[in-house]
Amino acid sequence: MTQKKPILYIIIPCYNEEQVLPITSKMFLDKLNQLIYNNKINSESRIMFVNDGSKDHTWEIIKRLSRDNSYFLGICQSRNRGHQNAVLAGLMEVQNKCDITITIDCDGQDDINAMDDMIEAYLDGCEVVYGVRNNRSTDSFFKRFTAEGFYKLLNWMGVECIFNHADYRLLSSRVIKSLAEFKEVNIFLRGMVPLVGYKSTSIFYRREERIAGESHYPLKKMFALAVDGITSLSVKPIRMITTLGFVVSLLSFIGIMWSIISFILGKTITGWASTTCLLCFLGGVQLLCLGVIGEYIGKIYLETKARPRYIISDRTYDESKENI
Ligand code: UDP
Ligand code: MG
Repeated sequence: MTQKKPILYIIIPCYNEEQVLPITSKMFLDKLNQLIYNNKINSESRIMFVNDGSKDHTWEIIKRLSRDNSYFLGICQSRNRGHQNAVLAGLMEVQNKCDITITIDCDGQDDINAMDDMIEAYLDGCEVVYGVRNNRSTDSFFKRFTAEGFYKLLNWMGVECIFNHADYRLLSSRVIKSLAEFKEVNIFLRGMVPLVGYKSTSIFYRREERIAGESHYPLKKMFALAVDGITSLSVKPIRMITTLGFVVSLLSFIGIMWSIISFILGKTITGWASTTCLLCFLGGVQLLCLGVIGEYIGKIYLETKARPRYIISDRTYDESKENI
């Protein structure tokens, strides 16, 4: 059976990437040409850059690339909204223009040759193909430790996500349309895509070091992403508070019994230290629990506002045209 060649859109979020873009854009174009030449994908396939409100010349570079070569397209977010929103903006933009998308970072860390296997897997019937890095030898010990801890924490907290898979993945347009039904404002794609379902598989690749420029994910941002991922996809922390509440109540009950017995036995003069400890302990636990609950209330607050998840301020092409 001869299958129709799929139209592929490669979606690439870019934030302050003027140093890498001139290098990696060539790599992406070569890959696209090679895939077209090998009859794997349709010649209407494109490379779509999403400028995430960069403060350097990234958008000028994207505009120049698209002027020079029609395979390049670009959209620009009205301001910096973060990696996840940029990827989502790209996916939503192209959902009706293509059969498949591959999202990939623009820094050359993810092996673009893995795209061949991803497309192969799609042609075999998978609609979601996760790119999973098979080693972290290029990472520092600290990055490896924190990044792997990140995935373990997420899974432990009940967020289903693929270990060591970042946002390098193939999605069919059917999956993107289903993903579009998820209306949440707090987006954590790694946890949302498994929820969408469809037949999926993983392919493994070696992740290299950044070609140039610096990572935008320092520990602080990674921690924020983990908290966001957990609180937008799992209520386990709230359940843990309930368990903690039970444990503390039990301990308090024992404490009450102890004080009543002490009172009856007439030994109630001393006890300043134990009272202070108990006060501090309970105060700490209560504040911590309030904080966790507050995090969820904050999420509800943001969700009820239903603000737009991305705002596209500029395009390198005319949106109203059928073929771009
Ligand atoms: N990125 C983005 N918006 C941001 C931060 C990052 O679009 O606010 C893009 C960035 O340009 C890159 C990808 O997201 O293509 C991953 O970022 P980075 O390489 O800095 O993260 P790391 O690979 O170190 O985790
Ligand atoms: Mg990177």
